[in-house]
Amino acid sequence: MSREQELAQRLGEVRARIDAACEAAGRPRDEVTLIAVTKFFPASDVHILTELGVRHIGESRDQEAGDKVASLPPDVREQLQVHFVGQLQRNKARNVAGYADLVHSVDRARLVGVLDSGRARAREEGQASDPLGVLIQVDLGEGEQAGRGGVAPDRIDQLADVVGESDHLELRGVMAIAPLGLDEAGVRAAFTRLVAVSEHLRQAGRTPSGATLVSAGMSGDLELAVSAGATHLRVGTAILGSRPEHR
Ligand SMILES: *Cc1c(COP(=O)(O)O)cnc(C)c1O
Repeated sequence: MSREQELAQRLGEVRARIDAACEAAGRPRDEVTLIAVTKFFPASDVHILTELGVRHIGESRDQEAGDKVASLPPDVREQLQVHFVGQLQRNKARNVAGYADLVHSVDRARLVGVLDSGRARAREEGQASDPLGVLIQVDLGEGEQAGRGGVAPDRIDQLADVVGESDHLELRGVMAIAPLGLDEAGVRAAFTRLVAVSEHLRQAGRTPSGATLVSAGMSGDLELAVSAGATHLRVGTAILGSRPEHR
């Protein structure tokens, strides 16, 4: 099977899963956006996915992502929204702010200033025109369970305020990764807490009323995320295949 056929088949399967999950949850299909997480995979896969109608890609490692995005022909780049979904180091944030359209992993105030000045520079230099969209990554770990990154729930409001005071960032919503070791009910409950955080932030006026993005759900738990109310799914393995383990 060619890589085109392989990606077309897996993408078709993932789209069918999303259709079925929306149907089961009684949600309109257009409420849910699929982000194909292309980390570790080459720009040629991004081309193929674009041909297959994918309009959102996710990346999680700065060097790789920056090079890959820069290598895309302008007509491919124009069709895509680039989501940075991985843990963000402070010294990489400035660079990411230049090529990403949306950063999902803002989990501490110290990142905000760097992203803001990075985006200011990118706008000055004509590399980007819009403000950089950001999501606050929320730690959904509870009690004994280790969280998988993100700001603790009692610090979310403060972080939202810091983002709100920036000049070149736009708070668009929240993101989380399900804690490890939970059963299905536990994962669904965790995602439901994330949706509640998103509602809380809007009701408290801490985020603009349009900050409705809820990024949750990956290859293994996208159905649970859809049923809890997620708007953006980050799917890697189920579309692209398994990633190399060590690199
Ligand atoms: C890699 C990655 C994904 C995709 O995970 P899969 O299990 O391969 O679908 C989603 N979110 C984040 C933050 C990731 O780093």
